[in-house]
Amino acid sequence: MKADEMSKVKKKTVCMLAAMAALVLIAGAAFGGIKRYRVHLREQERKQSGIVLAFDDYSPDNWEQYFDLFDEYDAKVTFFVNAAYPTEFCEAARKRGHEIGCHTTGHANLTELTEEEIYEQAIAPIAVFREAGYEFTTFAYPYGAYTDELNELLLQHYNVVRGAFKCEPHVKDYMKRGFVESMSLDNANYESREQYEARILEILTVMSEAEEGAVVPVYSHAIGDGDWCVTEENLEFLLQKAKEMDLKFYTFQELQ
Ligand SMILES: [Zn+2]
Repeated sequence: MKADEMSKVKKKTVCMLAAMAALVLIAGAAFGGIKRYRVHLREQERKQSGIVLAFDDYSPDNWEQYFDLFDEYDAKVTFFVNAAYPTEFCEAARKRGHEIGCHTTGHANLTELTEEEIYEQAIAPIAVFREAGYEFTTFAYPYGAYTDELNELLLQHYNVVRGAFKCEPHVKDYMKRGFVESMSLDNANYESREQYEARILEILTVMSEAEEGAVVPVYSHAIGDGDWCVTEENLEFLLQKAKEMDLKFYTFQELQ
C-alpha cells in the first residue's frame, strides 16, 4: 500500500470512528433525555396537587346521571355506599374508574352500637366486596361520628377512614393510611352561591400553591338543590376551577 493510500485509509477510519462516536453521543443524549423526561413526568405527577371528591350514602340514579360530567373533567370520584354487597351501581362506577368505599350497611352511628353491631355494619361487607374484586380499602363514618377506639378498630381493616367536619389539606403521603377529615360541599353549609365560590377558590388557591403534592378531601351526598346536596352549578364550579388551576381529582385509593 502506498503512503498516500495508507493515509486515505487512516482518514476513512478516523472519519468512521468520529461518526460512530457522534452516533453514540446522539443516542446517549436522546436516551438520557428520555430518561430525564420520564423522571420529570413522574416528579410532576407526584407533585400535582388535587382534590379527593366523594359522595356518601346511596343515590345511584342521581350519581349515575353525572358520570359523563365527571368524565368531561377527568374527575375520578369515591362513592361511599350504604350497601352490604356490590350493586349494579357499584359495578357501573367501577367500570368508569371510580372508587367504591364503605359507609356501613345501614347508615349507622357507630358510636352508639355494640361491638357485634359495629362488625355487621362496618366490617362484614369487606369480605363480600373484596371477593367480588373490589379493593374496598376506604371507609367513611356516617354522621362523621367516630371515636379513637373506632379508628383503632377500623384501621385494622381499612387503609383510610374518613370523617366529615373539617377542611384539612394534606401532603399526599399522609393519605396512605389513617384517619382523615373531609369538608362538606352540601348546600346547607353555605349561605349563598357567592360564599361557596369564595370558599372553593380560597381552598383551590392553597392547593395550587402547595410546593409538595397536596390534596384536600371534600364530599357531598347527591347533586341537586336539597340541603344535603351540592347544586349542579356549584359542582361544576369546583370541576371547572380545579381544571383551570391544574389540580387533579384523585380517588382515596389512588393515594394509598
Ligand atoms: Zn352518610
